[in-house]
Amino acid sequence: AEPGAVRAALPAAPPLSGEPFERIMADFERIIVPGLTHWGHPGFLAYFPANTSPPSILAEMLTATIGAQCMSWNTSPAATELEQVTMEWLRQMVGLPEVFTGVIQDTASTATLVAMITARDATTQRRNDATVDRLTGYTTLEANHSVPKGMRLAGIRPGHIRMVETGPENAMLPEALRIQLRADRAAGLVPAAVVATVGTTGSTAIDPVPAIAAICREEAVWLHVDAAWAGSAAIVPELRWIFDGVDAADSVVFNPHKWLLVNFDCSAYFVKDRAALLGSFGASAEILRTAHDDRVVNYRDWGIQLGRRFRALKLWFVIRSYGVEGLRAMIREHVRLGKVLADWIEREPGFELVAPADLGLVVFRYGGERTGNRQRAAGELDGFNQRLQERVNATGKIFITGTRLGGRYVLRVALGHLTTTEDDVRSAWNMIKEAATSE
Ligand code: PLP
Repeated sequence: AEPGAVRAALPAAPPLSGEPFERIMADFERIIVPGLTHWGHPGFLAYFPANTSPPSILAEMLTATIGAQCMSWNTSPAATELEQVTMEWLRQMVGLPEVFTGVIQDTASTATLVAMITARDATTQRRNDATVDRLTGYTTLEANHSVPKGMRLAGIRPGHIRMVETGPENAMLPEALRIQLRADRAAGLVPAAVVATVGTTGSTAIDPVPAIAAICREEAVWLHVDAAWAGSAAIVPELRWIFDGVDAADSVVFNPHKWLLVNFDCSAYFVKDRAALLGSFGASAEILRTAHDDRVVNYRDWGIQLGRRFRALKLWFVIRSYGVEGLRAMIREHVRLGKVLADWIEREPGFELVAPADLGLVVFRYGGERTGNRQRAAGELDGFNQRLQERVNATGKIFITGTRLGGRYVLRVALGHLTTTEDDVRSAWNMIKEAATSE
């Protein structure tokens, strides 16, 4: 699609009278569908998937049909109690201890913002100190952009958001965190929150949560873990290690809408100190008061929104349809496909794998120094990889992304769609190889 093409095909003013549905549907097929990016296509390898599945789609259709707005227990008791049950199931599935309570947030970005606001309030209240001007936040340059954004929106001044140094594996260096925290305290600042990432967007790097959690405990700083993509993999016993140390965090988020076959949106947010969360987000209004309030959960008090969608239904349909073993098998297959592609890349002269492909994401580039093949200057290599990405995407058959890792431009193939098979991965790889030799 060319920018503006879809808009140009649509009337600038709304119709005064209703139109027959056949015409609306025909225009949907003629104008809208060709302008869609097909996230469910097996060749969609660009961003982390926004997955879906037949039971999730059916649940979403029912959700729209029911039309419930689930802000409080009494505005749909089944929605609230199903959310309690499914979040408890998810907690068990990823092996978090019972001290965590879950709530569905729309996205990981919102969950992280919720965590930052709670951390801010917990810190200022603990110190009996209302000023946020001196609060500081800590993450790394590899964190998703929603992390510093959440800190900023929570009131931490941009100049007080620290990008802690990372090591060669693109993960936070705990010692660098400790030094920075102490330097800030010595300068009269007040550390409020650390965000560690389990599965970074650029390379699925895993910050060393056990060491980071120990520092946060010593320094009494809120630790939030952003596991938006990779967290779902903790349901697989042999991958549970990715959550090592997360039991010592204050909050954690992962996205069933990314890797658990639940369609967008559905983020699982778990928090230890429920009272702190309710302290920040609880709000009373006469119109909302009910006789059951001391016996029920009112999820409007667990996040930013008052009105809430019935998201637990799709989670319930999906977990019951596939079972935990079915979901584990799906994740194992995506991890396997990632390793298969990584192996092909490592064997191919001229290509270089630039990060371990443990969690479905394969990060690589062409003409790495290691290969000695078609030696190019570093800047020239970046440009070459960017053009390679553009050529591949211009085929319209597959869609990949690029990013910067350690200052170098690298390509990303994100596996994790229900429909992507080994044949799809092979043909994507063939296309990438072909595009590399056509310049
Ligand atoms: N955190 C990480 C590590 C991500 O990779 C992403 C998106 O890919 C996000 C957060 C943002 O997720 P959401 O779209 O649910 O806000």
